[in-house]
Amino acid sequence: MAITTEPPRSTNATGASNIPPPPAPPSAATLEIKNPATGELVGSVPVMSAAEVDQAVARARAASTEWGALSHAERGTELGKFRRAIAESCDDLAELIHRENGKPRLEALVEVLMALSHLDHAIKRAEKAMAPKKVSSGIMANYRATVGYFPLGVIAVIGPWNYPIFTPMGSIAYALAAGNAVVFKPSELTPLIGVRLAEIAARTIATPHVLQVVTGAGATGAALSKSTVDKIAFTGSTATGKRIMAAASERLTPVLLELGGKDAMIVADDADVDKAAEGAVFGALTNAGQACVSIERIYVVDAIYDRFVAKVVDEVRALKVGGDDGHLGAMTSLAQVAIVKDHLQDAVARGAKVLCGGPDAISGNYIQPTVLVDVTQDMKVMKEETFGPVVPIARVSSVDEAVRLSNDSKYGLGSSVWGKHAVRELANRVKAGMTSINSVVAFAGITSLPFGGVGESGFGRIHGDEGIREFTRTKSTAEEVFSLPLAVTSFKLPKNAYERVRGLIQTLYGGGLVARAGDAWRKIF
Ligand code: NDP
Repeated sequence: MAITTEPPRSTNATGASNIPPPPAPPSAATLEIKNPATGELVGSVPVMSAAEVDQAVARARAASTEWGALSHAERGTELGKFRRAIAESCDDLAELIHRENGKPRLEALVEVLMALSHLDHAIKRAEKAMAPKKVSSGIMANYRATVGYFPLGVIAVIGPWNYPIFTPMGSIAYALAAGNAVVFKPSELTPLIGVRLAEIAARTIATPHVLQVVTGAGATGAALSKSTVDKIAFTGSTATGKRIMAAASERLTPVLLELGGKDAMIVADDADVDKAAEGAVFGALTNAGQACVSIERIYVVDAIYDRFVAKVVDEVRALKVGGDDGHLGAMTSLAQVAIVKDHLQDAVARGAKVLCGGPDAISGNYIQPTVLVDVTQDMKVMKEETFGPVVPIARVSSVDEAVRLSNDSKYGLGSSVWGKHAVRELANRVKAGMTSINSVVAFAGITSLPFGGVGESGFGRIHGDEGIREFTRTKSTAEEVFSLPLAVTSFKLPKNAYERVRGLIQTLYGGGLVARAGDAWRKIF
C-alpha cells in the first residue's frame, strides 16, 4: 500500500506513512490529493478495494478484543500517549490540513485544538459515562435492576472534508475511549490527515490496529458500510447519509448520522446589534462557510434590521480572502464552488439584492464573502445547504415570524438566537438539536454537550456522555435478591393468584389506599 505525502514547497518534508501493510495485494489505483489553493500535489493514497476494507475490519475485530478488555485506566494511559503525540505534531498536522483542505493555517490549528479537547474529554469521562447504574425495580421490588454499558466492538467512522481532523475525532475519540476499535474512512479530498492519525496511533497505542484508516472514494466508504462493523458513524451530506443507512439495513448495522444543516439565526429587537452582527459574520463565514453548523440564514426583527445589515456589511468588507493572513481560505472543491454559485444566481434571479460579493465575485476556488438581502424562503439559499461564504439576511415583523420561518426547514442541526428578554424561551422554540444563545457555534466547542440534529440533519449524538454511550451496547440485568410468594416468573402460583393480581392493580393504580396516599403526597409537594 503506497501512501505518499509530497513535501510542501515552502516547509520541511512531512515524510511518508509507515502504517503496517495489509496482506491483500496492493491497490493499483491511487488518489492524488491537490492543494485547492495552489493546485500543487500534496500526496497520494491507494484506492482500497472491498477486500482490503474487509481485512482492515478483521484486524480491527481482533484488536477490539484486547482493547475492550482493558480497564478504563489502561485505555486512558494509551490514549493519553496518542493525545500527547498529536499535540506534539500540531504544527505538522495544521500544515497538512491547510494544504489538503485549503483553509488558513490558523483555522487548521484551531481545528487540531478542538480535536484534542474532545479526545481529552472522552479519555476523562469514559469511566463515569459507562459506570453501571442501579435503577428502580418498580413493582418487581424483590429484584436489583442495573444498566451496564459495554463496547460494541468495531466502529466505522466515515468523515467529511470540511474539518478533516475535528469532525472525525468527534466520533473516533469517543468510540476508542468506550473500548472499541475504529476503521476510519476519510473523504477522498482530505485523506492524508486520516493516514497521519492512524500512523500516530500505530506508534503510540500498544494495541495494534486499534485505529486504522482505509482510503479511497465513495466506493471504499460503501464497502465499509456493508462490512461487518458494529456501528457506522457518518458525517457528511444528507444524500450520502441516506445511502449509508440503506446499505446498513442489510445487516441491521446501527448508524449515527451527522448530516447537513441550514442553521437559522434569529435577532430579536432587544439584541446587542453590534455583537449579533459580529457573531453572524463569524458564524456564516468561518471555514469559508463550509461547516455543518454554519449560520446559513438570518432573520432580523424590523426595528433593528437596517442597523444590523449595515454593521454586517462593514464587517464583511473588512475581511481578507486568501493569503497567509487571510480570514477566508480557498474552497476545498470546485464542485462546492459550483453549488454556491448556483445558489447565488438563483437568489439574484428571484429578486435578492447583493450588498457585497455575489455570483460574479468568484475566481477559481476563491469566493468573496457575499451578503444578500431581500431574500425569500423559496430561494435555494434559504432552503438548501449552501456550504459556502454567504450571509443571507431576511427582515421579519416579529420574533414569532422568525421562529416560524426558522422551523420551516427539513433540517434541524444548530441555531443561534440573540436578545435579552425571554431569550432562553426563544431558544427552546427553535426546532434544532443545538442552539447558541447570544453566540454562534459555541455548542460545538463545549465537549460535554451532545452534538447532533433532528429531521434530515440526522440522529444520534456525538460528544459528551451521550457521545460515549453511542458507542456502547446497553445491557440490562435483573437479579432476584429475595423470593416472594407471588412470583411472576413461575407457573407455581397460589390458587387465588387472579384475585391477588387484581387487588394489586387496584391498590397501586386504581384509587386504592397506596394510590390515594401517593396522590395526596403529590398534591402537598
Ligand atoms: P459526501 O456526503 O458525499 O461525503 C462524505 C463522506 O462519505 C466522504 O468520506 C465520502 O467519500 C463518503 N461517501 C461517499 N459516498 C459514499 C457511499 N455511498 N457510502 C459510504 N460513504 C460514502 O459529501 P461530499 O463531499 O460529496 O459533499 C457534498 C455535500 O455534502 C456538500 O455540498 C455539503 O452540502 C455536504 N456536506 C456536509 C457536511 C457536514 O458536516 N454536514 C460535510 C461535508 C459535506 P468520498 O469523499 O471519498 O467520496
